[in-house]
Amino acid sequence: MSLAVFLEHHEGELQKGSLGVLGKAASLGDDVAGIVLGSGVKDLAAQAGRFGAKKVFVADAPELEAPLPQPRVDAIAQLVGEKGVETVLFAASVLASDVAAGLAARLDTGLNWDLVDIADHDGQLVGTRPALEDTVYVDVGWTTEPRLALFRPGTFDPVESGGEAEVEELTPAFEDFSTQATMIEQAHEESEGPSIEDADVIVAGGRGLGSPENFSLVEELAKALGGAVAATRAVVDAGWYPYATQVGQTGKTVSPKLYVACGISGAIQHKVGMQGSGTVIAINKDPNAPIFEFSDLGVVGDLHEIVPKLTELVQQRKSG
Ligand SMILES: Cc1cc2nc3c(=O)[nH]c(=O)nc-3n(C[C@H](O)[C@H](O)[C@H](O)COP(=O)(O)OP(=O)(O)OC[C@H]3O[C@@H](n4cnc5c(N)ncnc54)[C@H](O)[C@@H]3O)c2cc1C
Repeated sequence: MSLAVFLEHHEGELQKGSLGVLGKAASLGDDVAGIVLGSGVKDLAAQAGRFGAKKVFVADAPELEAPLPQPRVDAIAQLVGEKGVETVLFAASVLASDVAAGLAARLDTGLNWDLVDIADHDGQLVGTRPALEDTVYVDVGWTTEPRLALFRPGTFDPVESGGEAEVEELTPAFEDFSTQATMIEQAHEESEGPSIEDADVIVAGGRGLGSPENFSLVEELAKALGGAVAATRAVVDAGWYPYATQVGQTGKTVSPKLYVACGISGAIQHKVGMQGSGTVIAINKDPNAPIFEFSDLGVVGDLHEIVPKLTELVQQRKSG
């Protein structure tokens, strides 16, 4: 079964989510390739080898410099046709989702998205996908080849196996219509620490904080734990915190090892975005808050007292 993983990169590093998917693919079979597309990206192949790729297809072209989907669709469609790749896996991101969807349309093939697992059942690949607002998992398959799959962010941790990959250079031919779009500007939000998609620890704040200024409580705890700050829709809608940090049905789906929910009621629309977290700790003054139903540890009390003490304790432990 020949598998290839689209490896997204940023500032000279392969993205953690893509490397996680690469590790998963490597656990399914030996014939795993990475696909690195961009401009000045040849050196990234070695990174892919260390994380499970046996082979890396590299296309280095000015048309691939901007993070635009269509030239990437050209390159991967050509690769699939020439090398007989049967399955292409993607770690979800804005770019990867566009590329996967464009490839499905171009090759008239099936794309399963929002997957949280994939397994080999007697030679048949079967994906796992949450459904009905994440209350059940369903098995999904493919009726066409190549099989395309897009995984939820943070689904798999990268596994460094220390291998070396054979590198094969590609020379994609670009369609006229694929190179018509140009990137005018790309703005990056200035932020400290990890993004909520990548963070192992998330401290999330809800309306229980009482005011936007009190987000500093959450920020300080996140800093002490080396984590990222997230928010509920209630506070994002109120303008207390940026939209990019919203977790839930209409926000981001996260799966950190630790999720600390401060003053969050635990509405189903919030739960669907964070229920893949390893350990959930909730701090809420209402003992009947729904969040306690899916928390591993609950603290009933006023967050304004508890959170600063918790931060102090973490800082003390770290310095001691
Ligand atoms: C279509 C749709 C999509 C939605 N998408 C999302 C989404 O993506 N993400 C999302 O989060 N929501 C989403 N929502 C909104 C969701 O239904 C909830 O309204 C929202 O999650 C509530 O946010 P909250 O927990 O911050 O606020 P609240 O529900 O108001 O809860 C505040 C909590 O803080 C506690 N509290 C108050 N004071 C203190 C204190 N001093 N100490 C400790 N605890 C305290 C209270 O007991 C309460 O449980 C969506 C809703 C709809 C209809």
